[in-house]
Amino acid sequence: MLVGGIEGGGTKFVCAIGDTSGQVLHRERIPTTTPEETLRRSVEYFQAQQAARGEKLAAIGIASFGPVDLNPASPHYGFITRTPKPGWSYADVAGAVRRAFPDLPVGFDTDVNGAGLAEHRWGAARAWQTFVYITVGTGIGGGGMHEGRTLRGLIHPEMGHLLLPIRADDPLQRGVCPFHAYCFEGLASGPSIEKRWGQRGETLPPDHPAWELEAHYLAHAIMDIMAVLSPEGFVLGGSVMHQRQLFPMIRAKVAELANEYFVHPRLQNLDEYIVPPGLGDDAGVCGGFALALGALEEAQRV
Ligand code: ZN
Repeated sequence: MLVGGIEGGGTKFVCAIGDTSGQVLHRERIPTTTPEETLRRSVEYFQAQQAARGEKLAAIGIASFGPVDLNPASPHYGFITRTPKPGWSYADVAGAVRRAFPDLPVGFDTDVNGAGLAEHRWGAARAWQTFVYITVGTGIGGGGMHEGRTLRGLIHPEMGHLLLPIRADDPLQRGVCPFHAYCFEGLASGPSIEKRWGQRGETLPPDHPAWELEAHYLAHAIMDIMAVLSPEGFVLGGSVMHQRQLFPMIRAKVAELANEYFVHPRLQNLDEYIVPPGLGDDAGVCGGFALALGALEEAQRV
């Protein structure tokens, strides 16, 4: 059985064909230009793949950048809502796919909820029912599950905009988020690292002070999320988390900040509590597959 997945991002849409084990069989990167062009090319990709393989897809899932409307009762369900990205406000992302494939179940959720679902199905979060997936890259986003369902509410979590105190020795005067002077994304995303140190994070050596400060902000956000949601674990992905030296630094700082307040055997050692994605950089695109399979299972129940 084949499923289609879309990892819809602000710079590219990754469209892919996968199987039920989360294997990526084929993928194509489509630049994010206008919604009309990007969504048309995404639909054409799946049509071409079906034709070339002589096999229909069983479902398609879309893990989209946000903010998105996840309320099935809303007239804007499946839309990106108001976004600073030019042309994309109120783009009907799920509708474009549904209209092209009217017979197929189409799953839709945030990019980070999708990645969290994929980590739950095939990756590092298989044993967890309540957990958080955080991506740290061009932006910061948090998603995941609560008791086996993806996190959503009035809108959906926006953990990248948790407000954090700026550290006194931070060379930045203000974070890079246009909306908030001092938020998680504004202080810890890839662009904030570049602005603070005058060069891209991947060009900084592993022992650069950038990483100690980065771990400081990540640990503060994680501690706050622990206090609100009590997750069974955290999966940290995205390009900044390629800096593997961050993991032990974050764990040590979280332990220090928590100050033994949270009592549970699993928190005695954070090595298996704060972990990299089991799916590596495929967590995002596998999020599309996981949403496709979720939509298929839902369709088979009714
Ligand atoms: Zn912000």
